[in-house]
Amino acid sequence: MANSPLVSYTRLSPNHSGRRTHAIDRITPHAVVGQLSVERICDCFKDSGRQASCNYCIGADGRIGLCVDEQNRSWCSSSRDNDQRAVTIECASDLTEPYTMKPEVYAALVDLCVDICRRNGKKKLVWIAVRDKALSYEVKSDEMLLTVHRWFARKSCPGNWLFRKLGDLAQEVNSRLRV
Ligand SMILES: [Zn+2]
Repeated sequence: MANSPLVSYTRLSPNHSGRRTHAIDRITPHAVVGQLSVERICDCFKDSGRQASCNYCIGADGRIGLCVDEQNRSWCSSSRDNDQRAVTIECASDLTEPYTMKPEVYAALVDLCVDICRRNGKKKLVWIAVRDKALSYEVKSDEMLLTVHRWFARKSCPGNWLFRKLGDLAQEVNSRLRV
């Protein structure tokens, strides 16, 4: 499986587990905590001592970077199970709650979600805001489920700003997938 054609900067991180053992059926957007460029975000994950990575990152100007090949399992969501099946995306954000993201970042996230769904044969992006309901939901073969880091660790990620917009995000992505 190829990576997204929307990528304009690539710096691969050594921090990943190789090929996924589960097919992609989730997307997990994160807040990177800082209005950083793609170069800076990829820089955060270049050292093997850091033990963290993501598949894609979106810089404050909306450019998209590749950090771990989409077919590989990144180390991003504090959950082995989630990272095996999720495409993880670190997004430039403010430094504090609600970790607001710039319009360019949000627009790029919508584009990237549409692209990831299309390339993986998914016709619908599903958002269920209640953790236990979402994690026990049986994802159909043509569906992609949105998940969030806060369900797997005691942290706010992706922040309340994006968390509250995930319903809109799914709706926007789905209206584009129907075209
Ligand atoms: Zn996160």
